[in-house]
Amino acid sequence: MRTGAAALITAPVVSTAQAQPVRTAETPDAAVARLVEGNARYVAGKMNERDFSAGRALRAKGQAPFAAILGCADSRVAPELAFDQPPGELFVVRVAGNFVTPDGLGSLEYGAAVLGVKAIMVLGHTSCGAVNAPVVALQKGNDLPGHIADLVRAMKPAIEPTLKQPGDDLYQRAVIANVRSNVQRLQEATPILADMVKAGKLRVVGAVYDLPTGKVGMV
Ligand SMILES: [Zn+2]
Repeated sequence: MRTGAAALITAPVVSTAQAQPVRTAETPDAAVARLVEGNARYVAGKMNERDFSAGRALRAKGQAPFAAILGCADSRVAPELAFDQPPGELFVVRVAGNFVTPDGLGSLEYGAAVLGVKAIMVLGHTSCGAVNAPVVALQKGNDLPGHIADLVRAMKPAIEPTLKQPGDDLYQRAVIANVRSNVQRLQEATPILADMVKAGKLRVVGAVYDLPTGKVGMV
């Protein structure tokens, strides 16, 4: 009996010590669906109520984000808001123009292989200045100042083919081409991400955030 009583007393303590945040989506498809559902709440203005102080102690013990986002640095596109997610759910890498850099790739590999995210979304957006700049630079052949020119050089291979295609919506086509190119880069990134994608443990998807509506559409 003494053992039983001791077990009763110690059990909650042990379980608290071992408690870790639980992942809210355990498959790639479920992770993508969770992003889509969160964005629908955001678009409808029906976001979940947040108490940011709740769960802080638990989050100090670890993290189990269900998805990673490679998004633009643009101040108008905040992934946690756009997908209505609290702290601990999204592993976010942001760079102007949402393209894959060596450091960003390392971060996303960490998110997938160590933290266990089930999906990576490359998230572009309408009216992206970082995508528009290379389009203009390619058309006019002018250089941008400082390290901004490095952004243009990095994004040029993905964007340049759209300049040769007919159509009026050049800037939007460039946004989509840039997203698709970087989805492919991540899907083929050896040795970590490509293997996880092949094994069905990870999905890499592309999407564009529409600034006027807040809606995220897959591309
Ligand atoms: Zn942008």
